[in-house]
Amino acid sequence: MGNARLAHLGVIVHRLDTAEPFYARLGLSPARRESLDRERVRVTFLPVANAEIELLEPAGPEGPLSRFLAARGEGIHHIAFEVDDIERALAIAVASGMRAIDQVPRPGAHGTRVAFLHPGSAHGILLELVERPQP
Ligand code: ZN
Repeated sequence: MGNARLAHLGVIVHRLDTAEPFYARLGLSPARRESLDRERVRVTFLPVANAEIELLEPAGPEGPLSRFLAARGEGIHHIAFEVDDIERALAIAVASGMRAIDQVPRPGAHGTRVAFLHPGSAHGILLELVERPQP
């Protein structure tokens, strides 16, 4: 996939308003909040050294994140790798036998483009590929 690097860990929580102060006690301050209406989720990014923690709060009872939270409770939801060329990385992942949830990249937080790979083909972890916006 080229020069993949850890971008963030996605952590699903019931409420950003209670999770943020918890992480603040560990010295992690929220850098950016965003609502992704299409995905029905609110996110906060907490910078940690060279990566981030992405807190995910489902917005309302509908959608896959809400179902995930109801079924499994709070915890790690996905691992995101930043790639230089998301189309290429996705093609390589699929060619190597991984199952893509997104056949083409979709818009992510903060102008990124993202694509998810199914945990069933990735040792039980939902993987996210992220390409940052071009400057
Ligand atoms: Zn993510």
